[in-house]
Amino acid sequence: MKMYYMDNSATSPVVEEVLNEMLPYFNEKFGNASTLYKLGVESKKALDKARQQVADLINADPKEITFTSGGSESDNMAIKGVAFKERAKETEDNPKNHIITSQIEHPAVLETCRFLEKYGFEVTYLPVNSDGFISLEELENSIKDSTILITIMHSNNEIGSIQPTKEIGAIARKHNVLFHSDAVQSAGKIPIDVEEQNIDLLSISGHKINAPKGIGAIYIKKGVQLEVLIHGGGQEDGIRSGTENIPGIVGLGKAAEIANNNLENIMKHNQEIRDQLVEKVTSEIKDSYINGSLENRLPNNIHFRFSGIEGESLILRLDDKGIMGATGSACSTRDLKGSHVLAALGIKPALSHGSLRLSIGKDNSIEDVDYIVQSIKEVVEYLRSISPLWDNKTDEYIGDKFEKPLDEEDLDRY
Ligand SMILES: *Cc1c(COP(=O)(O)O)cnc(C)c1O
Repeated sequence: MKMYYMDNSATSPVVEEVLNEMLPYFNEKFGNASTLYKLGVESKKALDKARQQVADLINADPKEITFTSGGSESDNMAIKGVAFKERAKETEDNPKNHIITSQIEHPAVLETCRFLEKYGFEVTYLPVNSDGFISLEELENSIKDSTILITIMHSNNEIGSIQPTKEIGAIARKHNVLFHSDAVQSAGKIPIDVEEQNIDLLSISGHKINAPKGIGAIYIKKGVQLEVLIHGGGQEDGIRSGTENIPGIVGLGKAAEIANNNLENIMKHNQEIRDQLVEKVTSEIKDSYINGSLENRLPNNIHFRFSGIEGESLILRLDDKGIMGATGSACSTRDLKGSHVLAALGIKPALSHGSLRLSIGKDNSIEDVDYIVQSIKEVVEYLRSISPLWDNKTDEYIGDKFEKPLDEEDLDRY
C-alpha cells in the first residue's frame, strides 16, 4: 500500500543526500575530532563545515553554534544554563530567579521550567489567544527586576502558530533580559534570522529537518554566558563535553544546507498542499474546523477538528488507509488530559479529542490531496455513525449537552 506520511512535525525521514554524506563517517572516516593525525583532522574539518552550514541557516556565526543531542537537550541547556548562571549573580535585595515562558511550549521547555520551580525559580506561563499567539503587552508587563530569561517558541509544534519573535526579542533587549526561542519546528520551514529577530539562544533538532534523530544544535549569541551542564573532556568549547557525534553532525549540517538553499521552494510546496487540504476538508466534511489561525502559521502545518469523534480511532483508521497523522486527543499524551496547547486555545476537551494534525514534508504531493481528503471524510463519517455524540437522524453534533467546560485544572496545567 502507498504510504502517505503526514507527521513530519513528529519526525521526518533522513533524505538520501543527507544519508550519503553521513555514511563515510561511520567507518572509513571514524576519527575522533580531538586527535592530531590526519584521520582525526578529517573529522574536525567535517565538524567545522557542519557548524558553518547550521550557522548559515539562521544567519549566525559558526562560533555561536554548539552541537547537542537534539531539541530537548538544546532547550534544557538554554534554560538551565541561563538560570544557574544568572542565579549566581543574585544578591539578597536583587534576586535573579524569574523566567517567562508560554503555556503552549513543548514539554522540553515546560518541564524544564517546572523543574526549576522546584529549586526556587519563579516562572510566568503566559496565556495565548484563541489563535495561539502571546500578547506582547502582557509579556512586557510580566518583566520585573528579577527576570533573567524569556523563553518563547519560534513556532508551535501542534498548531503551527509563529510567534512575533522579532518583537519579543526587542522587548527582551529593551529590558536587558535574555531571549531563548525553541525553533525546532521553524528551522528549514520558514526563514530564521537570529540577528534580525533579536534572539540570544535558539534550539534546533536534526530529525525534524530530514537529518537523524539524536542530533541537534543550540545557537548561543556571542557574549551570552551559560552554566555548563555536561562536564567532561571540554569538547564544543567546553560548553558541552562528550566526543562529538560526527555522522549526526555531518547529517544535520547537510540537511541545514539543503533547507537553506531551497527554502522558498519548500515553503511553496508545503503551502500549496496545505491550502488544498484546508479548502477541501472544510468544504467537503461537515462540522470541520481549523485549530488556530491560518495567519502567521507554519506553511507545512494544519490542525483540523471534527466534532463528535475520537482522535485515536481516527488515527488508527487512517493508518489502515496508509495515512499517518497526529491527534491532540487524550491518550496520545501521558496524563490522559488531552493537548495542553488546544486547552490553552480555549478548546473544550470533548472537541479537542476529535482533532487531526497533518504536517507536510517533501514526500507529500498535491496529487495525493484528493485521496487523503476522501479517506478522512469516509473515516469521520463512519466514526460519527457509531458515536453517541452524533445524531444520525438529523446528521448533527449533539455533544454540547455532555460537554463539560474547561475547568481550572485543564487551564492551569502550566
Ligand atoms: C520535537 C521537538 C522538540 C524535541 O526535539 P528532540 O530532538 O526530539 O529532542 C523540542 N521542541 C519542539 C517544538 C519540538 O517539536
